Amino acid sequence: MQFNPLLDSIKTYEAGKPIELVVREYGVAPEAVIKLASNENPFGPGPNARKAIVQAADQIHRYPDDSFFALKAALGARLGVQSDQMIIGAGSDQVFDFITRALLQPGDRVLQNRVTFAMYAIYAAQVGAQVVSTRSDTHDLGQFESLMREHRPKLIYLCTPSNPAGDALDREAIYAFLERVPETTLVVVDGAYMEYAAYRDEAKRIEPAELIARFPNTIYTGTFSKAYGLGGMRVGYGIAPASTIAALMKMRPPFNITNLSALAATAALEDGAHLSHAIAHNFKEMARYEAFAHQMGFSFIPSYTNFIALLFGEAISATAIAQKLLQKGVIVRDLKSYGMNAIRVTIGLEAENDRFFECFKEVF
Ligand SMILES: *Cc1c(COP(=O)(O)O)cnc(C)c1O
Repeated sequence: MQFNPLLDSIKTYEAGKPIELVVREYGVAPEAVIKLASNENPFGPGPNARKAIVQAADQIHRYPDDSFFALKAALGARLGVQSDQMIIGAGSDQVFDFITRALLQPGDRVLQNRVTFAMYAIYAAQVGAQVVSTRSDTHDLGQFESLMREHRPKLIYLCTPSNPAGDALDREAIYAFLERVPETTLVVVDGAYMEYAAYRDEAKRIEPAELIARFPNTIYTGTFSKAYGLGGMRVGYGIAPASTIAALMKMRPPFNITNLSALAATAALEDGAHLSHAIAHNFKEMARYEAFAHQMGFSFIPSYTNFIALLFGEAISATAIAQKLLQKGVIVRDLKSYGMNAIRVTIGLEAENDRFFECFKEVF
């Protein structure tokens, strides 16, 4: 079969390894496996979301409300935006897919950081767009600006805080950059970890309502997969002026999230106390990772997220460390494919982090 030749340039996305795979391949007992690889909230969903999921069992023979009225009403009230300024996706991933297909034609350019969320480039390649990247691991808006002038991208991704490096941009710096972006260029501000960044440093907080009011050529994306603890539910959203949302809606398949997911996400918006606790715990444990790095003599990128990138010198292979940890049942992310000799570790529960430190010392 001759498939679309564009596929030749696409690498299949490699997701974090599931616990089951480690049990199968390395013979580790399931209860001994700890997954610190996909930036999930280790506490899981909050009490309201859990209750909604259990109660929703009665309704799953019905298709969902395709307008996702209740979810948009609750989310809109939270963010201060109208329903026609929102699109719901099966994860914010699906929103990137809508944006890509609604905006880009073959040969159009997409500008992004060198080290950033891998799916942006995969979606771009699917439609034959060219990806232009900066040179650095963390976001440098000076590089973005000069590459923007040189390549005139139609789409720019700012991932703040960024995955997998963990760096975050200041709101004022983003606004100053956006002042210089042509109106015909769409800028995605991916706030998948914004709940964490805003807690750590108020200067990093982006309010989607303010962003799109000041800069109509932007779209803010958020997700329920990280701080909200609903990664398995696949719910994300895009916030943009109504005219942008109207274009994206043309790309959306019907019923693109399940009614279970919509109910869980709506209820999760009422789980504020659970979220605050998880986020405070995250940074308390993060401090232990930083102290551990100092103690062991390697460096890290200060992180505004629920993960930390640990960097190794040339004498040490991050890939080998990740592999040895896996054999002990500790799943982390090797950042080799991002061109970094580093591993990304999701901050877990206290006992999980203890186990990581212990296993790491054994393999290091
Ligand atoms: C996890 C993540 C997303 C989206 O995840 P979904 O589960 O598809 O909502 C988006 N951007 C970044 C940077 C992420 O790390």
